[in-house]
Amino acid sequence: MIETEEFEFSPRVLSPEETMDDGDIELTLRPQTLHDYVGQEKVKENLAIYIEAAKRRGEPLDHVLLYGPPGLGKTTLSGIIAHELGVNLRVTTGPAIEKPGDLVALLTSLSDNDVLFIDEIHRLSRAVEEILYPALEDRVIDIIIGKGPSARSIRMDLKPFTLIGATTRAGQLSSPLRDRFGVIQRLELYTKEQLCDIIRRSAMILGIPCETDGAMEIAGRARGTPRIANRLLKRVRDFADVMGNGQITQQIASIALSRLEIDELGLDSLDRRMLTMIIKGYAGGPVGLDTLAAAIGEESVTLEDVCEPFLMQLGFLGRTPRGRVATALAYEHLGFKAPENSGGNDGQLTF
Ligand code: ADP
Repeated sequence: MIETEEFEFSPRVLSPEETMDDGDIELTLRPQTLHDYVGQEKVKENLAIYIEAAKRRGEPLDHVLLYGPPGLGKTTLSGIIAHELGVNLRVTTGPAIEKPGDLVALLTSLSDNDVLFIDEIHRLSRAVEEILYPALEDRVIDIIIGKGPSARSIRMDLKPFTLIGATTRAGQLSSPLRDRFGVIQRLELYTKEQLCDIIRRSAMILGIPCETDGAMEIAGRARGTPRIANRLLKRVRDFADVMGNGQITQQIASIALSRLEIDELGLDSLDRRMLTMIIKGYAGGPVGLDTLAAAIGEESVTLEDVCEPFLMQLGFLGRTPRGRVATALAYEHLGFKAPENSGGNDGQLTF
């Protein structure tokens, strides 16, 4: 049996990963059309053309790989693609497809031109991946029946379909798999203005009175991520209900977010711990990711997927061949004096 959704509980308000708490609300807030999907203009423009071309030819859309940090709208976009194509969407995740048979069952249940969305596609097992290659390239699957000398392979045709793969780490995808995607798109962190639009749209859907200044205050601290923006909106609403008249103003938003220990740039205590450790524990770096993770008692993947994209976008963190470094901006933000050679790095930033 294949699970179609997987949730993990995360106590961090700023975690871009989906939590139990987000489930219902995310469904309500997910835009259904490219028009309602805020930002990611280049990706939208390209997809609109590919979708239109596929529809005119009556063919499935080419296989699409979406990559970028969690919470930026990869699942949402795949729903929109299926909706715009007028076909069904099947959603699953890499780790949920445990055996080749699970994938075979999924692929053979698709109707013409349907979209199959596999989140965390970099976590597919090798055996499952191998079923996927001929399915993507020639729309066939090879099934082995029986065992030992009497085993034989049967080839089965599949209906035309589109695979949309999503990953936070395109680098971990094997190259044979990556090469089978005709469309590869990277999603970027959102600007404050785009997040403000998303928050105002969500507030409208949820019936929360929200002033533009209030939405802007939340947007500025949502670290470029719509999922976090929507989650902060819910938390701030609680403060607005209890401390005010339910209206989200700039003042209420600011008080609420400070109580949640999210600073004016959107850094939370984990970001601050990470930067402080580089600065105080390792003289500004470079320090290897695993060493750093062990020093602050966090998982390396959390630092890499959650903290780093945002800290690098702010210009607070750099990657060098020898490890992570804190920049002069990070020293300044955390109230430390930057060393003379600016930011403790050795001048070899590789962004
Ligand atoms: P991912 O699959 O990349 O982790 P999701 O697609 O689940 O992210 O998006 C998380 C939430 O953020 C969704 O519920 C949706 O409401 C919101 N969201 C994401 N991208 C956008 C966008 N471009 N415009 C409006 N809302 C968005």
